[in-house]
Amino acid sequence: ELTYFNGEFVEPGAKVVSIDDRGYTFGDAVYEVTRVVNGRCFAWSYHQDRLYRSMREMDIPVKMTPDDLTELLEIMCEQSEIKDGYIYLQISRGAAPRHHAYDRSKLEPQMLMYIKNLDMDAIRKDEDGVKAICLPDERWLHVDIKTTNLIPNILAQTKAEKKFAYSAILFRDDICTEGACSNVFVVKDEICYTHPADNKILKGITRQMILTRVAPSIGVTVIEKEFDRAFVEDADELFFTDTIGGVIPITKLERNVVGDGKPGKVTKRLQESLNKLMEEGLP
Ligand code: PLP
Repeated sequence: ELTYFNGEFVEPGAKVVSIDDRGYTFGDAVYEVTRVVNGRCFAWSYHQDRLYRSMREMDIPVKMTPDDLTELLEIMCEQSEIKDGYIYLQISRGAAPRHHAYDRSKLEPQMLMYIKNLDMDAIRKDEDGVKAICLPDERWLHVDIKTTNLIPNILAQTKAEKKFAYSAILFRDDICTEGACSNVFVVKDEICYTHPADNKILKGITRQMILTRVAPSIGVTVIEKEFDRAFVEDADELFFTDTIGGVIPITKLERNVVGDGKPGKVTKRLQESLNKLMEEGLP
């Protein structure tokens, strides 16, 4: 484990953040979670593009060039010697006496980053199938921006875990948007469906990997379109995607089994193919 804050390495869990930091008082910050596989960041350029987009949308000025940030991540990987892990990166708008409106000229963005080991046994266990519950999507209409302001997500995820589910599938006006901390795919007649990447979902990097690399490489069709709860309940296969878990088969939805209660055929092929891509690595 290695932690970085504003230009220096600090003790993990160090108390270095101002109580006036807007990330703390308002959740006024953006973040990224990147997988480290074989000691290298997987698909970092995708995460980096999304991070800079989030900052643009949030009007947080960029203080570090893409090259310098990439180099910093590489140093984190090298110095920590972590092989299988993840990097959490957060940039808050900065610290100022609490007032809702911000003044860009008086704020210095604060960057936090840490690298940690992952429990690969727990991840492999989830690959055998998990339970999901259904909940209303009560978030704002810009969840395409990856901010740390995650109240509806944490409440939904806690409800799910209290019911021994891996996570919750969220529905806005009966339309399935995504998971509490992942994207959602439905498989019907061997074709995959997922919500379009608009303002109502986070454009997940794992989702992007499935759409642009993994599915095409094994001849699986993925269609981006809206679908309702009845369509989800009628699915042959269901799965979540996220950076940490990869492709996570959903084998139980509320009280019902999905398909025959085992990870579906298409889901398994996508999962294996994504795992292979992660082993190979991608800048
Ligand atoms: N949707 C939400 C709300 C998330 O929080 C996450 C990941 O944390 C995702 C989707 C999946 O995105 P990614 O594949 O980039 O991890």
